[in-house]
Amino acid sequence: MDCIFCKIINGEIPSYTGYEDDLVKVIFDVNPVTDGHLLILPKVHYQDFNDIPDELLIHINKVKKRLCKGLEEVLKVDGVTFTQNNGYGQTVKHYHMHVIPRYNGDNIDFIPSAKKHSVEEIFKKLS
Ligand code: 5GP
Ligand code: ZN
Repeated sequence: MDCIFCKIINGEIPSYTGYEDDLVKVIFDVNPVTDGHLLILPKVHYQDFNDIPDELLIHINKVKKRLCKGLEEVLKVDGVTFTQNNGYGQTVKHYHMHVIPRYNGDNIDFIPSAKKHSVEEIFKKLS
C-alpha cells in the first residue's frame, strides 16, 4: 500500500520520533503549525476515525494525556490543541491525531467559522 505513514512506521521514510510503543508511533510533523507539533500514528493502517477500533482510540487517548502532561511540565507550553481530520481536510489517509502545543499569543484560530454563524442559523441548517 502506498501510504506515507506506513512507510514512516516501517522505517522506509525517516522521521523524528517523540514516543513509541507496540501500538503507536509519535512523530514530529514535517510542517509544524507550532514548535513541537506531534502526530500520533497507529502502527496498523486505519483510514480514519470511523474504522479505527475503540480499544485503540482508548490507547491513543492515554498517549495524548502523557504527551500533554510532558509538553506542559517539561516544555512549559501554555496549552495543547488536538485535531484529527476525517475525509475533508485529511491529506494523509492513515488515521493520525495532531498534538499541537500552544503558546500565549500564537494567534492560531482552529475554529474560525464558529464565529461567522449564529447558533440559530446552524440549528436551522442541521434540522
Ligand atoms: P492531515 O492534513 O491529513 O490532517 O495531516 C497530515 C499531516 O502530516 C500534515 O500536518 C503534514 O505536515 C504531515 N506530514 C505529511 N507528510 C509527512 C512526512 O513525510 N513526515 C512527517 N513527519 N509529517 C508529514
Ligand atoms: Zn498507512
